[in-house]
Amino acid sequence: MSTNLLIGSHVGMNGPDYYLGSVKEAISYKASTFMFYTGAPQNSYRKPLNELKISEGRSLLRENGFDESKIVVHAPYIINAANPNNPDLLDLSIKVLINELQRTEAFHASILVLHPGNHLGAGPEKAIEVLANTLDKVFANDGTNVKIAIETMAGKGSEIGTSFEQIRDIIDKCHFKDRLGVCLDTCHVHDAGYDISDVDGLLDEFNRIIGLDRLLVVHVNDSKNIRSAHKDRHENIGYGEIGFDVLCRFVNHPNLINIPKILETPYVNEKAPYSDEIRMLRAESFEKNWKDSY
Ligand code: ZN
Ligand code: FE
Ligand code: FE
Repeated sequence: MSTNLLIGSHVGMNGPDYYLGSVKEAISYKASTFMFYTGAPQNSYRKPLNELKISEGRSLLRENGFDESKIVVHAPYIINAANPNNPDLLDLSIKVLINELQRTEAFHASILVLHPGNHLGAGPEKAIEVLANTLDKVFANDGTNVKIAIETMAGKGSEIGTSFEQIRDIIDKCHFKDRLGVCLDTCHVHDAGYDISDVDGLLDEFNRIIGLDRLLVVHVNDSKNIRSAHKDRHENIGYGEIGFDVLCRFVNHPNLINIPKILETPYVNEKAPYSDEIRMLRAESFEKNWKDSY
């Protein structure tokens, strides 16, 4: 039983407590890390930093032994930093992304997860080119050392970043390689067609194509759909097509000890499932029908 497993979930950041509330929420799940958005995930409106109780949140997280360097921020997902058709929207993405990197640094976090974007019919090669170029502009102007972790995507619509090869190409084409890493989402890679039940095989393949040293975050989600479905619908741990045993072996893998593992599974009857999911993954034992009490 790995009581020191580096695991948490995404948490909210709402008034009146904002970041202090995010940390309290993570503590309530007995998490050892967490992920948050610095505003609404669906838009780029952002509250001023001085209203967000950052120093109060930081004091509480340090008192509770969280490693601040492992806390994760997620960029708003309206950004399409790979947009091959619309230069104005691309400029907006650059501004939003620079702001988000600076906000991440203001929270003293050092990892920002980014969805690589959509090719909108132009094809992944073109979009990868655009994204690498966008990232170069962002990294030349943001003035931070925050790393961007590009998330592996399920292949819904025209998403790019659906294979390890595509992610490697993005990194290869960017000139600021030391600022780039990867967020591996278990639901997304399964939906994209990878056989995640072969945990060692999958991590070997990741290492061969991208390099395990690039892996900065793991998103731990079961999937509502079968392998290669390209749907991106997260399911609670043990209730989906990946299953508890595979996810448990994945999060407890010795090569992933120092990597923050973040649950993004759905609420059950409006209740957060994270305390239960974290406890079961730490104990490495599934409590059958655990959702029944919700
Ligand atoms: Zn994501
Ligand atoms: Fe994710
Ligand atoms: Fe997802």
